[in-house]
Amino acid sequence: MTILSPGSGGSARKTIGFGRCASYASQKRKHDVATKSPASIRLMKDVNIAPFKFSSHSLKELNTCDARLREIMKRAIKVYDFSVICGFRDETAQNYAYDHKPQLSKFKWPNSKHNRQPSLAVDVAPYPINWDDPVKFTELAIVIKSIANDLCIPLIWGGEWRSVDMPHYELK
Ligand SMILES: [Zn+2]
Repeated sequence: MTILSPGSGGSARKTIGFGRCASYASQKRKHDVATKSPASIRLMKDVNIAPFKFSSHSLKELNTCDARLREIMKRAIKVYDFSVICGFRDETAQNYAYDHKPQLSKFKWPNSKHNRQPSLAVDVAPYPINWDDPVKFTELAIVIKSIANDLCIPLIWGGEWRSVDMPHYELK
């Protein structure tokens, strides 16, 4: 949990030994400058983009997830618009996903990381959702993985699996 406390990045890096990871504090400063300076606020207003916000459904799903996933996704929504489709899956939902054609999960309850409480997996999709747009899913993955890397949180993207699962992210 140390790695998530504001300002603890430097010591977390030292403790965990992720030399490649930038410190939380330095990343936060860069992020603050990028998102809060008057120039960037003007830019966002001019082009009518970010900051984006989660819908109530997205927030409800995200709140079933592990704190590390919540932190990553809350940072990602500031720069890229997407929906949280699913966090925790109960037995009915998991077995429905398993039985669904095409199959939405390779696992029966309780073997998916979506079945832990809090959930160690989350499914997300670029907004507006187009399941047939792998480019948008890949753009979103670049954002999410870079944030996870900055926070030194090992994260797996299902888009890199042999049996591709573009919306899926899970903690290692
Ligand atoms: Zn999933």
